[in-house]
Amino acid sequence: MKRMHVFDKNIDICNLLSEAVSEGIIVLNEDQLIVSINEKAAYLFEYTHHELLGKPLSELIPEKNKKIHNGHFAKYCKNIKKEKLAGGRCVEGLRKTGEVFPLNVKFNPFFVYQNTYILVLVNDLSERIEIEKSLDIKSKALDSTDNGIIISDALEDDYPIIYVNRAFSKLTGYSPSDALNRNCRFLQKDDNDQKGVRIMRNAIKAGKKCRVQVRNYKKDGTLFWNEISINPIRNNQGKVTHFVGIQNDITKRVKAEEEIQHFLKIFDDSLNEIYVFDVKTHRFSHVNYGAQKNTGYTLRELKKITLEDLLGGITKDRLREILDPLHLNNQKKITFETIFKRKDGTTYPVEVHLQSSTLGGRVLAVAIALDISERKNYTQKLEKTVAQRTQELKEALIKEKELNELKSKFLSMVSHEFKTPLSSILTSATLVGKYCDSDQQDMRKKHLESISNGVYYLTGILNDFLSIERLEKGKEIYRLADFSLSKVVNQVVYNANMLLKSGQKINYPMNIEEEMVYQDERIISLILTNLLHNAIKYSPEETEIDIKFDLQEDQLSFSVVDRGIGIPEKDQVHIFERYFRADNVLLTQGTGIGLNIVKFHIENLGGNISFKSIENKGSTFTVKLPVNSIK
Ligand code: ADP
Repeated sequence: MKRMHVFDKNIDICNLLSEAVSEGIIVLNEDQLIVSINEKAAYLFEYTHHELLGKPLSELIPEKNKKIHNGHFAKYCKNIKKEKLAGGRCVEGLRKTGEVFPLNVKFNPFFVYQNTYILVLVNDLSERIEIEKSLDIKSKALDSTDNGIIISDALEDDYPIIYVNRAFSKLTGYSPSDALNRNCRFLQKDDNDQKGVRIMRNAIKAGKKCRVQVRNYKKDGTLFWNEISINPIRNNQGKVTHFVGIQNDITKRVKAEEEIQHFLKIFDDSLNEIYVFDVKTHRFSHVNYGAQKNTGYTLRELKKITLEDLLGGITKDRLREILDPLHLNNQKKITFETIFKRKDGTTYPVEVHLQSSTLGGRVLAVAIALDISERKNYTQKLEKTVAQRTQELKEALIKEKELNELKSKFLSMVSHEFKTPLSSILTSATLVGKYCDSDQQDMRKKHLESISNGVYYLTGILNDFLSIERLEKGKEIYRLADFSLSKVVNQVVYNANMLLKSGQKINYPMNIEEEMVYQDERIISLILTNLLHNAIKYSPEETEIDIKFDLQEDQLSFSVVDRGIGIPEKDQVHIFERYFRADNVLLTQGTGIGLNIVKFHIENLGGNISFKSIENKGSTFTVKLPVNSIK
């Protein structure tokens, strides 16, 4: 007990010291008896201070460890002089309750009055072990997560990375040694001008959290979309000490979104009108830009109206009839033509292609509408053209028929008209041969005259036909020139004299002797010849025919007046038609061509022809032509 005494003396100092330190202190003597213990140590073992004083240390050691402990302690005591401090050893302690707990012990011998004491510093390790366990779990958790995790030190310059997890390395290809102690901007390479990067930079500066999507590059240079959320960690004073960055490779998602955006853009940009509507309510859920543009409705307005409003005029029953097969009979596609009504009330034809589609249990229909106004217009135009062409063809056919009729008429007329003069020429020629004697000269002369008249007549007919041919083909060329009017009239009258019937007389105009006119001489001659021949032909013997001229500054008028059979009133309207001959002339030779040609020429030269006629009294044909007369 002598050794205990030393402590008694200095008990106050000792207590004071041992209570001042934060660790548990147990003082043992060489017999391993507890000679002193501070509150902390007693508390650790859940005893009161007094309960342990004088007790052997083994009270605080679990049974299973006692043997080992005793061995260690004996060894320690043997070397105690050499081994001043021993410890840092983790051992197990036994609480009063019987609970075994981990603790750290350090032995420190000291000597008082040749007595050896051992100061044992004890620390409860339960808490630290728990923390370490927990840290270990957390670190494992960080490593096992699929998200890349970076921790940066916010207290160091340029926020160097102090931790990266395994997923980060997997994601980026950078090992921890590649990444540690660097600012995480290396992930952007040179692609720094990004909205997400700016947001991140500002958030870090302000010590705030943020979540961004940025383009990052793996160690091998591959681009990937990184969704980064940055969270600041603050200490007890509220100062940001670290930033934790959680990274997620969202390349697939971004690509999928890009694709969706691309499809949406195609949907919106399509020039066709695309409508998505509920098959039951007929309300629109989405309508593309093309549809909004053509209908004049905004998307918001379209969402307020129904399909019926757009189809303007279609009955509900009809609409049901159209849509029912789509959701009742599972018909894949329906195509129909209808009319759409714009917001401003105007309408346009459309071809609608309907397809059904389901979204979250709702049956929707996708309608692609093609504005077929142009197609319709084109079809209408085409139909119009076809109708026009058909009409033209019909007219051409009628003309062709008329022409054929005219041709056959012409052929029969020609054969008829040629027959009589040819047979009279033949007769006269035969007879001429028979009158050989000199006293038969008169008869020969008569027949020779008849032959030349026949030839003259036939030549006239042929000339008329050739004229028609030329006129029809537009080949007729007019030659305007100055000529003497009287010269032409003289010639015509002279030639006509041969045709005069007995007692017929032509009254020659007296007022044209000196007249020169600027016209087509040949045509004037042809017109006058024709009119004069008709007058002779269609007048009986002993009648007079007047030729009258009236020459003005710029117009030449002339008339041929006869006192003949005239033209029946009903035939007068047809008199200038080709091949037309009045009923009262059918016994007289003629072709019905002359007046038609005359009128044609006169009109080509800018003039006109008219007539007045009374049956059995006579006819007057008057021609007016523009001229330049020179006195
Ligand atoms: P053509 O005398 O050869 O029959 P034209 O074309 O010269 O043909 O005349 C057409 C028709 O007009 C004649 O067939 C005749 O019926 C009528 N016609 C023309 N001139 C006279 C006339 N001076 N008097 C009566 N009828 C006439």
